[in-house]
Amino acid sequence: MVVVGAGMAGVQTAVALREQGFTGAVTLIGAEPHQPYDRPPLSKAVLLGKAEGSAFEVDFDALGIELALGREALAVRPADHELDTEAGPVPYDVLVLATGAEPITLPGTEGVPGVHLLRTLDDADRLRPVLARQHDIVVVGAGWIGAEFATAAREAGCAVTVVEAADRPLAGALPAEVAAPMTAWYADSGAELRTHARVARVEPGAVVLDDGSRVPAGAVVVGIGARPATAWLTGSGIELGAHGEVVADDRLRTGVPDVYAVGDCASFPSGRYGERLLVHHWDNALQGPRTVAANILGESDAVYDPVPYFWSEQFGRFVQYAGHHAVADRMVWRGDPAGPAWTVCWLREDRLVALLAVGRPRDLAQGRRLIEAGRPMDPEALADPARPLKGATAEP
Ligand SMILES: Cc1cc2nc3c(=O)[nH]c(=O)nc-3n(C[C@H](O)[C@H](O)[C@H](O)COP(=O)(O)OP(=O)(O)OC[C@H]3O[C@@H](n4cnc5c(N)ncnc54)[C@H](O)[C@@H]3O)c2cc1C
Repeated sequence: MVVVGAGMAGVQTAVALREQGFTGAVTLIGAEPHQPYDRPPLSKAVLLGKAEGSAFEVDFDALGIELALGREALAVRPADHELDTEAGPVPYDVLVLATGAEPITLPGTEGVPGVHLLRTLDDADRLRPVLARQHDIVVVGAGWIGAEFATAAREAGCAVTVVEAADRPLAGALPAEVAAPMTAWYADSGAELRTHARVARVEPGAVVLDDGSRVPAGAVVVGIGARPATAWLTGSGIELGAHGEVVADDRLRTGVPDVYAVGDCASFPSGRYGERLLVHHWDNALQGPRTVAANILGESDAVYDPVPYFWSEQFGRFVQYAGHHAVADRMVWRGDPAGPAWTVCWLREDRLVALLAVGRPRDLAQGRRLIEAGRPMDPEALADPARPLKGATAEP
């Protein structure tokens, strides 16, 4: 068994193969030189120096998992069942692709001093002293990473300006009315959010916007999204989708025999939501590998059909989301979005299909189960934040 990519999805795949009883050779190949580590702490505790690092607590030796780190996979030759790497070819019986995603760069700023991305431990190590020196910081993009980075930078005492091309934060992720209350979070934390603001260029000490205005910048952090790290698969015969992701089936198999794909690098058809999902969140990289291992080992005919889940910690708030609201026909608020804790529920034909909970983890936990169960809800009861979510079903 050869797993490419030693992030969450790759590590969990190797571990799941062992947990599910596989006793043959397992090799985990990763491009980064570091001991495999978890990414969410990078924009939180690690960035602020509150945690040394975030290496996974997995005893690879004890599990008999061979680590080949600092080694990039360059190509796959399915007809030969071989993977080409920097250190030569590696034969496989079964190959799992778990190469994750890489941040989208701002055109013209690649390699410019003072312009940073935030995806890897090395990125976080470079940014930690920037925060400690309390530079003026410009964050490009008010998405999840931009918001978390801005939070950490404010906590470190930096002056922070977030420039966002859209009219609101999280424009690609949430509807306008749900993102609207989040705009105030920036100002409350002392960060300036400038919407409709496009970067024209980065100059030494400043970001120049397309309206000609200059924003002082001792450092620039670009958080404008990520795309699957799959360029190396071009020409392999493995199908890549519209976003460059590996196209997997509902068992996380690719169209090529003995090749699976999981985590941020792969999309899968969701039976639950009736569309193909490309999920760039931690829980998907935790759950998917169990399905991959089960299908590889033929232990069960395991179909992957999760209720997607993620969380974000921003501006002192714990934000959690479960489901997929694109398929909803109705939205119900629980609580005042101007307050510290509220939830939005999305329904389709009165069944809960997604929810966003701010500071209401109980809503999230109960809602996630209700989405899985597909029970019809009573929208009026749902709108009462004092009532437990699980008590708002249409049937007793
Ligand atoms: C800063 C940050 C904070 C985050 N916070 C949250 C959060 O709060 N909540 C949440 O739900 N999600 C969060 N996420 C998202 C979550 O971390 C990802 O969804 C998760 O890491 C995906 O795991 P993965 O293994 O699929 O990919 P990755 O973690 O990207 O791992 C892929 C690995 O493959 C390696 N690789 C790539 N190409 C090759 C190659 N050709 N050869 C060999 N190796 C290769 C890469 O170097 C990388 O180490 C965060 C992400 C980041 C970057």
